[in-house]
Amino acid sequence: MNPSVTPHTSSPLPPLLGSVDTEEGIHCESISKSFGPEHAVSGLSLTATPGEITALLGPSGCGKTTTLRLIAGLETPDAGSIQIEGRTVADDRNFVAPEKRRVGIVFQDYALFPHLDVRGNIAYALPEDGQQGRLDRLLGLVGLTSIAERMPHELSGGQQQRVALARALASNPQAILLDEPFSSLDASLREQMRSEVRQILKDAGVTTVFVTHDQEEAMSIADRIAVMRDGRVVQSGPPEEVYGSPVDRWTAEFLGEADVLPGIALGEEVECELGPINAATSFCGPAQVVIRPESIDLSPLENVCTGFKEATVLDRTFFGHDQLVEVELDSGLRLRSRRLGYPVWNRGDRVGVRVDGPVTVLPAE
Ligand code: ATP
Repeated sequence: MNPSVTPHTSSPLPPLLGSVDTEEGIHCESISKSFGPEHAVSGLSLTATPGEITALLGPSGCGKTTTLRLIAGLETPDAGSIQIEGRTVADDRNFVAPEKRRVGIVFQDYALFPHLDVRGNIAYALPEDGQQGRLDRLLGLVGLTSIAERMPHELSGGQQQRVALARALASNPQAILLDEPFSSLDASLREQMRSEVRQILKDAGVTTVFVTHDQEEAMSIADRIAVMRDGRVVQSGPPEEVYGSPVDRWTAEFLGEADVLPGIALGEEVECELGPINAATSFCGPAQVVIRPESIDLSPLENVCTGFKEATVLDRTFFGHDQLVEVELDSGLRLRSRRLGYPVWNRGDRVGVRVDGPVTVLPAE
């Protein structure tokens, strides 16, 4: 059987891509899965909203692929339940076989048939013969019409990925699952394919869950990110929310660069070594102030007035569009600033430092 697709076998197919009933999305409720003593997934709950792209993001070994395989029906949960489009596909009494779940899967290596051309690879997954119009629409959707007669070995990595995506969409699935879809592409192609794949999935209007350990990838493609740690989802929300308001220090540091200072939350502001910072807090008392480098402003010392702390530049990395500058306050506290690529700071420069942007205030651990 085609390894990247589970052909539709139940209710009649809607005629067009994206017109499937996507009222319900995917719901995992307290699912667990162990392999011997290894708890791969431990009471995980997750919702993938209809028509949205949800990223399962977490470090290696946190259970992302196992979760995807549980949704696909390639693993059986030890506990918990999974619903796809309102239908329970796994709980303590039911288990719907993978080929009956109406999900399309794109594996890391795309798993194309080497002896079939592009058209043949996609046509294989069409649930009925004589769907030339549908095949042409799929080829158009993924931008492969002009090379439909090429064999897989004549395709670039990005083109192979688009064939795999079209093949997964061919069975008109209720959901698409992608496992590290960009990992075998080189860096420049990866960036291009991110926006292409996002566009294809949004045009198809299909509920999507994709697995990645790459924060930037998750933030640039997903409508919603579920951050995973130790077999659980620790935070879930739109990219801006999980990046801007992480639930704890681990999540803050996993999602991007962050410096964490001790402070005292006072309700409307937080007091820390950088002075009082405006930040509404839901608690008062000992706190951790999480500061992203883009919220740290540096100025030449001669230009600064009140509100700045004096510091010395330790290091600078120039990225063209911006620069990351590490500074040390006279107290020894080190901070990073990520701002525009000018002015050019040099090691040893004396600078004024202030907070200029949002910070996150968490209870002290
Ligand atoms: P990665 O990003 O490295 O692919 P992941 O987050 O996808 O990791 P999983 O592949 O889901 O993590 O694995 C979670 C844990 O379960 C790991 O410790 C892994 O070694 C273990 N595991 C996964 N599948 C099996 C299996 N079939 N047999 C035994 N252990 C397994």
